[in-house]
Amino acid sequence: MTSLSVPRPAPHRRLLRASIRRWSRLLATGSDPFDALARELARWRAAPARFWWRDDDAVAPSAALDRLLALRERLRIPLALAVIPAEADPALAARIAPEEAVRVLVHGWTHRNHAQPGAPPSEYPASRDAASVQAELAGAAARLGTLFGSRALKVLVPPFNALAPALAPAAAAAGLRVVSVDRDFADIPMPAHNIHADVIDWDRHTAVPEAEAVRPLLAALRLRRYGLVPRSEPVGVMTHHLAHDEAVWSLAERLLDLLARHEGAAFPAVEAIFPESARAP
Ligand SMILES: [Zn+2]
Repeated sequence: MTSLSVPRPAPHRRLLRASIRRWSRLLATGSDPFDALARELARWRAAPARFWWRDDDAVAPSAALDRLLALRERLRIPLALAVIPAEADPALAARIAPEEAVRVLVHGWTHRNHAQPGAPPSEYPASRDAASVQAELAGAAARLGTLFGSRALKVLVPPFNALAPALAPAAAAAGLRVVSVDRDFADIPMPAHNIHADVIDWDRHTAVPEAEAVRPLLAALRLRRYGLVPRSEPVGVMTHHLAHDEAVWSLAERLLDLLARHEGAAFPAVEAIFPESARAP
């Protein structure tokens, strides 16, 4: 790890990101990945690592949303809901209203894929016109503000965790000063507080193996412990309540329960994860 540094230029950043991803996949978790995570967290007891929970694609009340909110209540940790603005039902705002620890983030506009055929999916690829993206995102933020009031934070969670770096100024001009994508060293020129673990295997539509959920968290914690990422930079767990089978619910619950209970992990309020969103426009 001592050979890794944190260079500024984007090409180096992309190389670093790819290297860290390869290194992350090789981390040993032993026969009990959750025990490996607990042992890493034991090193954080004096100054707990900061965690947060992001659930994506909410649009309306549902049995799955009720289950998600019940899980949050049981775990007693905050929850950031990434809501798709164009689809958001006013009934979702009514359902969230009594949920004091839930905040709403801007999950693009329609969650439509605008990428060229064959390219990774993205609602905001470099091929899109910046002025129309700015107008779209300003409308998205305004709609969530109307529906959710102060519960809606000015945080962009771009669908597919993809935002072309060239469109960051358009997002900022729309009032979204902070972004949330996947893993550390995002190649986006604006503040970012990201997620690290995904509990879903999207090819098989069920839970990832425990080791696959735990490894990116171990990697994120070690990058912070080694000083390559600020220790205070939050580590995120991503869920998608509408896409969970029983295996995904079980994995998400066991993982979040371990984190919620461990003395080496803290779950600040969602506003504290995104201090940039509180600044006046
Ligand atoms: Zn999504």
